[in-house]
This record gives sequence, structure tokens and C-alpha cells, in this order.
Amino acid sequence: MPKVMILGGTAEAGELAARLAGDKRLDTVTSLAGLTRLPNVAGHVRRGGFGGPDGLAQMLREEGYDALVDATHPFAAQIARHAAEAAEAAGVPRIKLMRPAFERRPGDAFLEVSDMAEAAAAIPQGARVFLAAGRREIRPFAERADLWCLVRMLEPPVPGEKLPAGELVLGLPPSEAEEEAALLTKHGIGWIVSKDSGGRASAKIEAARRLGLKVVLVKRPEPPPGPQAAQLEAILAWLEATLFPPAGQG
Ligand code: NAP
Repeated sequence: MPKVMILGGTAEAGELAARLAGDKRLDTVTSLAGLTRLPNVAGHVRRGGFGGPDGLAQMLREEGYDALVDATHPFAAQIARHAAEAAEAAGVPRIKLMRPAFERRPGDAFLEVSDMAEAAAAIPQGARVFLAAGRREIRPFAERADLWCLVRMLEPPVPGEKLPAGELVLGLPPSEAEEEAALLTKHGIGWIVSKDSGGRASAKIEAARRLGLKVVLVKRPEPPPGPQAAQLEAILAWLEATLFPPAGQG
């Protein structure tokens, strides 16, 4: 029976796992990095890193995988690179699920930058900033003592970690823009820094539009060369063509 590995950690990887769990012709395993906090994923799950591209290539070979779907987050650049390298080395077909970037609407005045360091440098002196970002990503803001930052993180920072001046909130983003707008108004936020994670319109981007706040948008890293698709349906079609080619084409 063909075996598929999904590199997960995103909502769409979970949706793909749920779709494939119902396909009795396949054996599907979702791989999650150790810390990912996601609702139950359908089907088989393995957890933790592979120890780099060589470890992943070894697992693909030894456990007999026939296809690899990289459905990790657009900003998870390292695992995307490792997946490309490992699939190539193991001779396993790979595709990247790359959700579309945030929609740009007329009137949006996003300031696009390449990374968090550039984002921090783009904020004017003394601004009040909202940052929803991970531990590594907020570091350039900790160097800007003139800023006041409202920082939202999923996981608590490690003890001793230097944080930007301001306030820290822990938890998931709200789904409603009203709730986000109320938080931003309460803290007198003038600037939002956001990764262009894409997918469904994020509450903070929508709230920024409503409140007329400035948005600094960090561009996605370039994915490795090779096939990619933005929609689940296209991934399913690729799997079908790769694993069950019509007779005479296999
Ligand atoms: P990363 O920097 O690209 O990868 C760091 C290391 O984590 C990889 O080298 C790999 O370890 C391990 N890893 C990552 N994803 C894995 C997976 N699905 N299965 C097994 N090992 C995995 O990744 P990151 O940005 O820290 O993100 C970690 C996870 O969180 C990803 O799965 C991603 O989809 C999810 N996520 C990331 C973001 C974000 O903004 N970056 C947002 C939401 C969700 P080894 O080298 O040991 O194999």
C-alpha cells in the first residue's frame, strides 16, 4: 500500500490528513515538530525532528515512503529546505503546499520588508507596536528600547530571554477582528508587525484596516524549487497522479 508522509504543523496539513485518512488505498503519517500545539490530527502521527535532511532521507527510505507532502508553515524555511534535500536524496516525489499570501485590498498600505530585523528598523522612534511572533522573531525589537511593544506569543519565553519593552500576552489570536481591534485600541497601538503567513484573513490585519493602523508585513522566504500548490485539491490530484498513474504511465 503506498505510504505518504505529511510534514505538518498547520491547519491545512490537518485538513489534508483528515482527507487522506478516509482513503483506504493509502497509509498516511503526519509528522509534527515536537512543540506544535494543534487539535487532534487524523491518522497516524509521529513527533519530533529528524536530525536534519540526512535523518529525514533515511526515514523516507527505511520506512518505505512513496510521497512527501510538505505542508509546513510558509515561514518554516529550514524544514522546507530539508524536505527538498531529503526527498531528492531518497528519490521520493515531494510537493509543497504553499497557502496563498494575505489578500491585498485597495487602500492597504502595507510596508513590505524581508525579515524581522528590517521590520524593527522600519518602525519610527517611540512608536507603540503590536507583534504576534515567536521567540526568535521578536529579538530585533528587544534592541529598540525607544519602542513600546505589545507582544503576543503562543508559548511563554524562556527564563532570562530579553523581551521588548512593553507588555506580553500569551495565547492564540482571536478569530474575530472586533476582539483584536479592542485589544489594539486599549493599548494605543499605532503599528502592527505581521508575517505574511497568508491563508484566511487574519483578525489583526482586518483590525488594522478598520482602525487605519500602519502594517509592516514581513515577506515569506522563497520556497525551495520544485512542485508546489496553493490548494488542497491540487495536492490530492498530485498524489493521485503520482501514486496511481493510469495504466501504461506508471
Ligand atoms: P523550521 O525552523 O523550518 O524547522 C526547525 C526544525 O524543526 C527542523 O529542522 C526540523 O528538525 C523540525 N521540524 C519542523 N517541522 C517539522 C515537522 N513537521 N516534523 C518534524 N520535524 C519538524 O520550523 P519552525 O519555523 O520552527 O516551525 C516548527 C513547526 O511549527 C513547523 O512544523 C511549522 O509547520 C509549524 N509552524 C510554524 C510557524 C512559523 O511561523 N514558523 C507558524 C505556525 C506553525 P530536524 O532538523 O531535527 O529534522
